Amino acid sequence: MSSTLRFQVVGEAFRKKPIEVPNCEERPSEYFAKYVFNRQKMFKYLPAKVYKKMCDVIDNGTTLDMATADAVAEGMKKWAMELGVTHCTHWFQPLTEGTAEKHDGFVEHDWKGGMVEEFTGKELVQQEPDASSFPSGGIRSTFEARGYSAWDPASPVFVIGDTLMIPTVFISYTGEALDYKAPLKKALKAVNESATAVAQYFYPEVKKVISNLGWEQEYFLVDESLYAARPDLLMTGRTLMGHDSAKNQQMDDHYFGSIPTRVAAFMKDLEMQALELGIPCKTRHNEVAPNQFELAPIFEETNLAVDHNMLIMGLMKKVARKHGFRCLLHEKPFAGINGSGKHNNWSLATDTGVLLHGPGKTSVDNLRFITFIVETLMAVYKHNGLLKASIISATNAHRLGANEAPPAIVSSFLGAQLADVLAKLEKSEDEDVFNLAGKQAKQLDIPQIPELHIDNTDRNRTSPFAFTGNRFEFRAVGSQANCAAAMIVLNTAVAEALADFKKRVDALIEGGMDKMKAIVKVVREDIKTCKPIHFDGNGYSDEWKEEAKKRGLDVESSAPIMFDQYLAPATKEMFQKMNVFQPAELEARNEIKLENYYKKIQIESRIFGDLCLNHILPVALRYQSALIDNVFKVKATFPEATADKLNANNLKLVEKISEHCAFITENVETMRQARKAANAMGSERDKAIAYHDNVAPLLESIRYHVDHLELVVDDELWPLPKYREMLFIR
Ligand code: ADP
Ligand code: MG
Repeated sequence: MSSTLRFQVVGEAFRKKPIEVPNCEERPSEYFAKYVFNRQKMFKYLPAKVYKKMCDVIDNGTTLDMATADAVAEGMKKWAMELGVTHCTHWFQPLTEGTAEKHDGFVEHDWKGGMVEEFTGKELVQQEPDASSFPSGGIRSTFEARGYSAWDPASPVFVIGDTLMIPTVFISYTGEALDYKAPLKKALKAVNESATAVAQYFYPEVKKVISNLGWEQEYFLVDESLYAARPDLLMTGRTLMGHDSAKNQQMDDHYFGSIPTRVAAFMKDLEMQALELGIPCKTRHNEVAPNQFELAPIFEETNLAVDHNMLIMGLMKKVARKHGFRCLLHEKPFAGINGSGKHNNWSLATDTGVLLHGPGKTSVDNLRFITFIVETLMAVYKHNGLLKASIISATNAHRLGANEAPPAIVSSFLGAQLADVLAKLEKSEDEDVFNLAGKQAKQLDIPQIPELHIDNTDRNRTSPFAFTGNRFEFRAVGSQANCAAAMIVLNTAVAEALADFKKRVDALIEGGMDKMKAIVKVVREDIKTCKPIHFDGNGYSDEWKEEAKKRGLDVESSAPIMFDQYLAPATKEMFQKMNVFQPAELEARNEIKLENYYKKIQIESRIFGDLCLNHILPVALRYQSALIDNVFKVKATFPEATADKLNANNLKLVEKISEHCAFITENVETMRQARKAANAMGSERDKAIAYHDNVAPLLESIRYHVDHLELVVDDELWPLPKYREMLFIR
């Protein structure tokens, strides 16, 4: 783009745009889930017997027979056609970090020369999309490209525009998962089974344990016209160059600040559409960085919460465009200011309404609370490296370990009160500590846990896995990630820890020990074992890195090597035992992670090279020529001594520009060679490591020189919108 165009574009972004405030006469409670085939709709559109059967399928996971599926499809079709729906699609989450859909019309021949609207149980339950172009990590070669998508009745069908969207799992012909949902459902089943068995020690009436997830989605908005003028944003989702704006977030004036009117209109529109799709949006606010915002719904069952997060990410992008914005979900769109994450608030709850990670009122509640906290810590401790691998990506790597987000070490913050309770329990010798009447109990203050109302007062922003009163908050998840990746690992690991816990407690009970005493004994053992994962200090400090290493935590900071955790023996054993992944599936996923990783850096490096050669260098040289031209003119105008004096600064600047340009020219070529060498490597792992070690650092070192050119080159010539132009929505 020419510089004149840049001014037009910036001007356009800063001109007052008409604000389209969505008009809403109804209350949210009235339009909530308007486009969702939920229980209410099922009740209305399905025969009573079919409705009952569907509730059983959803609540108890019983299998769906074809006759019921046909009856459900019939009801769904009627409801959907009343909304003007003409198409349906299976909606799934392949390993691309987006969602996929392929629409089919509701039409069939009527065999009399006309058409009828048709939608059968078969179409609802299963489809066979050509899977050859989705990542499979070598599970399926293209000549046997069959993949199946199969309906997940636990996540309700919804309508977008003219299309009935059916949430499905996506598996290969040979049964391996090719998506996020299939293993997530298995992980949730595993944690339900293990946690129910343990919860029954305390509450025999419990039949089911539900995993809850409340995500907090951070995002940036930029004006669409500025976005379009930045090829790097367009292609990679982040700015690969751009000097800090003089003012960015240092005044802390954006966080929780008043929401710009244009943004507020976007948020309102987004929330209304999300609510209509059954996403229970609750919170919205400005985030720390300029142009950064957050949206959080009320927590939901994890499978549904994951679907809703995938849905809302798509919706955000769509609604943003309607308001003249682009929504950036990248973890680090702008250097020098905060990036975006997606805190995953996670907890387990029983079907009887007990929040297992929250304190209760009785000594039994307290022991249950401590048990679930400690076994969660056991899981996080044992698989801390894998949890990190589950959230790391080429894009999230810019956030993790950088000085703004949790470090690249997984540890857990508990807060003074809970830490104190655990320390006392660990030290006490008495197995009766949880008996309310016991002397020890009083000393331990354990019965007072409910009164303590362990809360957020001593929040620690630097902890990647923080206890926050009645849940854990996994903060290291990236803003554009599918939450399922982290939720699969977390729920499976907790399932394993609880199963192991139960085995040890049962052995003691069989040996004649009192149940509660046995539980306390094993909990106490585990408090000791998982101690290294507990860290309440400053996670950003260098001392912590040293300390974490001593404690045996995973301190690896190179993403491609972190991915090795997916193939670690403890990982394979856990996933196999919990029936979530077979080793071949893990190998495939590892391969895909590596491939995604280096391809992202490859694309960035190419775009960056182009921008350097086609945008930056020509402009810098043009400005340099203008300076030299001026030097000659000064020489021709003034006596030599005066001219030399007047030219001194310009000549220094000419030299500086030359140095920057030389570095850029030379290293863009070095980077190209590094890419070439990496591409020639045999294994995906080697390629990813080469991109990490040899290509990514060049992006940074070259950028330094580009950003310094931006500071000196005539603003009128600079070809790209600058940070100060992009980051302050008007
Ligand atoms: P913060 O103060 O961390 O910004 P909020 O208190 O607004 O966050 O809650 C963040 C998310 O945590 C919301 O989605 C909320 O519904 C969810 N949440 C609250 N309690 C639980 C829980 N017990 N389990 C899972 N998620 C929860
Ligand atoms: Mg939070």
